[in-house]
Amino acid sequence: MRIALAGAGVVGSYLGNMLQRRGYDVEIFEASKKENHWPVCAWGASRHMLEKFSKQAGLDFDDYVFHVGKMLRMELPDDKEEYLELRGLVSYNKHEWENALLKDIKVTYGAKVTKEAFPFEKYDYVIDCTGLHRTLLPKSKDDFLIPAYEYLLENVHGIDEFYVIGYKGAKGYFWYFPLDKERGYMGAGDVEKKYYGVSEFFKQHPEARVVKKVGRPIRLAPPKRMEPFYDGNIIGVGESIGCVFPMLGEGIIPSLICCDLFLEVLDRSRDKFDFKQYRKKVLERFDYYDDVYRVVRLKMDGKLSTVRHVNLLMSMYRHMKKEEKRFGFEVSFEKMTRMVNAL
Ligand SMILES: Cc1cc2nc3c(=O)[nH]c(=O)nc-3n(C[C@H](O)[C@H](O)[C@H](O)COP(=O)(O)OP(=O)(O)OC[C@H]3O[C@@H](n4cnc5c(N)ncnc54)[C@H](O)[C@@H]3O)c2cc1C
Repeated sequence: MRIALAGAGVVGSYLGNMLQRRGYDVEIFEASKKENHWPVCAWGASRHMLEKFSKQAGLDFDDYVFHVGKMLRMELPDDKEEYLELRGLVSYNKHEWENALLKDIKVTYGAKVTKEAFPFEKYDYVIDCTGLHRTLLPKSKDDFLIPAYEYLLENVHGIDEFYVIGYKGAKGYFWYFPLDKERGYMGAGDVEKKYYGVSEFFKQHPEARVVKKVGRPIRLAPPKRMEPFYDGNIIGVGESIGCVFPMLGEGIIPSLICCDLFLEVLDRSRDKFDFKQYRKKVLERFDYYDDVYRVVRLKMDGKLSTVRHVNLLMSMYRHMKKEEKRFGFEVSFEKMTRMVNAL
């Protein structure tokens, strides 16, 4: 069976690797040139989950870990602060991790796939792994993106922990994620494009040297709002169908979970991929992301009430608590309530 994947990001590299291992004839088409190909992302995720995905794909995740977090400091409006105990949140070498997964796969770089020109008839299935772009699937009227950009910095002194600033009204957040050897990612996502904290960071750290400035928006609309997941022989996996945790704009682990759902369905399908089963599984697995998305949007619109929306908040808390290990930080009801109120 021939499978083409459009995009060599998290999904393209991991799913391509897993499909080739299963004996499928895999080909990946990536828009950026090989020398420019760079995963735009702050490279932070749960070690526990990445160990599992790495093992499945034949990699040892320890080879890619940069920084193991202990505590996350969160600055909140009105000089409030919150500290979260970290339970597995790490930064890792995402560039090398993806390259290692792609090592033995046929990848054509500099090949921007379009719906009009792609030879769909040559493949049994074409996977849309173009993330934010969702190039091959119809657009969704319920889509919602948050603009974001970041700097890869070196020579940063005095910060060796994950650090975040939550913006008033939950309109976005600033981050500093330490990597290795005084390097780190500093950036922000902000619906209002004010990116508070970025210029202050440079003033506080005049020694910091910019290695790269990269950016793209992040999709916050969850799968429930990103249908269809398939169209003809095209199937969406990852951020292209909304697999991003809406409260944090965190998409590495959700996209990888989506890959595993795809593989599970493919393994069980007989002659033809069971599209309906895939849709069902994705909607079930990411069902509560819609509650989280509603909390975020209500807060952004200044309409969130901890009394009227108690069910939404409880759903968010219960699900996150159940998946604490997958997030890599402590999930505490008291802290969550304090943060929601402070924003
Ligand atoms: C600034 C920023 C920081 C982030 N930080 C984090 C973080 O720390 N932790 C976290 O979990 N998530 C983070 N995210 C989100 C996370 O990076 C994404 O959700 C995740 O990478 C999605 O994986 P994907 O494979 O679906 O898409 P991507 O990893 O975005 O890959 C899509 C690929 O498709 C290619 N492509 C696009 N269009 C075409 C086309 N027409 N033809 C061929 N190729 C194409 C792109 O060049 C890209 O290589 C961040 C996002 C941004 C923007």
